[in-house]
Amino acid sequence: MLSNSLVDLDRRHLVHPVSSYRGHEARGVRVLRSAHGARVVDAEGRELIDGFAGLWCVNAGYGQDSIVEAATEQLRKLPYATGYFDLGSEPAIRLAAELAERAPGDLNRVYFTLGGSDAVDSTIRFVRYYWHAKGAPERDQFISVAQGYHGSTAGGAGLTALPAFHEGFGLPYDWQHKISSHDLYRNPNAHDPEAVIAASVEELEAKIAGIGAERVAAFYVEPIQGSGGVLVPPAGWIKAMRDVCTKHGVLFVADEVITGFGRTGPLFACDDEGIVPDMMTVAKGLTSGYAPMGAVFLSDGVYDVIADGAGPKAVGHGFTYSAHPVSAAVGREVLALYEGGLLDNGRAMGARLQAGLKDLADHPLVGDVRGRGMLAALELVTDKAAKTPLPAEVQPATRLFDRAWEAGLVLRAFPTGVFGYAPPLCSTADDIDGIVERTRTVLDLTL
Ligand code: PLP
Repeated sequence: MLSNSLVDLDRRHLVHPVSSYRGHEARGVRVLRSAHGARVVDAEGRELIDGFAGLWCVNAGYGQDSIVEAATEQLRKLPYATGYFDLGSEPAIRLAAELAERAPGDLNRVYFTLGGSDAVDSTIRFVRYYWHAKGAPERDQFISVAQGYHGSTAGGAGLTALPAFHEGFGLPYDWQHKISSHDLYRNPNAHDPEAVIAASVEELEAKIAGIGAERVAAFYVEPIQGSGGVLVPPAGWIKAMRDVCTKHGVLFVADEVITGFGRTGPLFACDDEGIVPDMMTVAKGLTSGYAPMGAVFLSDGVYDVIADGAGPKAVGHGFTYSAHPVSAAVGREVLALYEGGLLDNGRAMGARLQAGLKDLADHPLVGDVRGRGMLAALELVTDKAAKTPLPAEVQPATRLFDRAWEAGLVLRAFPTGVFGYAPPLCSTADDIDGIVERTRTVLDLTL
């Protein structure tokens, strides 16, 4: 039994991320005690299937002994090394090289961060520095996509296009602009992917023209919008956006914090579409949540402009924990596990997940089933033809999350009435079938 004092201590002292503080105090914390594979165990000893890999991050699954060993060995050998003063550590250098070898195109330079938000924030600084070094400091305007998520730092949260991250924070800044999402479910052109692509191209072109092409610094996009509700663009959409950016000399930044590391099938989702961004952010699956780490990939061209621009001067950007050796050792082992079978298993289980969820499409509450690989969503509606969202008394995300929890399933319940799925790549067929069966139970309870 979980001691009440722990719940009280949490209520009194721990500030939780992205939550209603008062709502959380009233509800109290749910403490997880242990985990293995794709299963988590709560404080009462109840086992649940983790259909969301923590926060779309534990791609390798829980209880991977070899990751624990790699971290322990590194902790004993060298728990910390700064990257300042020309210093470094072997795991960080090797991980950077291993990632560069696998990244799309010439994304050969890797800057390590602590997670996704500071990776995005670092790109904002690198973009600004790049244009300054190119002699075009007036290129200081940024464009991102509605319903996109790019983290929660002061800069990145303005590129994020979800109202809760702006209201009360004075965001977005006036240099942060948006174009509409492709959102295929609610897009009037959904029946015609070419029309969706053409409309987005037109909008991005108009946005760039409106700002003035010579003022636009960069365009940010997730290959699949995650926190916006797992919104998958039509094939060719990302490539078309990339082409518009290339045409106008605008830097193209792909945010692969969720989609990276096997989530959609290949190591990086950019590989699905054969595009090479100028910069790419990753986190989550990079270390599978066993230690905090993110990264920014810079193309050779972008890196060289920054390096030559700075010359003998320091590029004033860095964190105490950049390229942390323990996180890097974890990252190297995680990468070995992906390539040692987890990517293959993820692809097989991803197909099973997508097929299983498609079987739920005939449920009266399911308006849309979408996703790719081990990334999926159901959109709940009360009227399929009118695509009417669930009424307010049913919709609160906490209520849907509670129902899933009672059914033995951890999923993401978005406030828009969307269920999100991102199971560990190590999931078994039983895990995946369990996710689908338990989802049906939740849907029946919600009817
Ligand atoms: N970018 C994307 C696409 C994300 O989904 C997230 C987090 O979910 C972030 C950035 C921020 O990453 P973090 O939560 O590690 O700071």
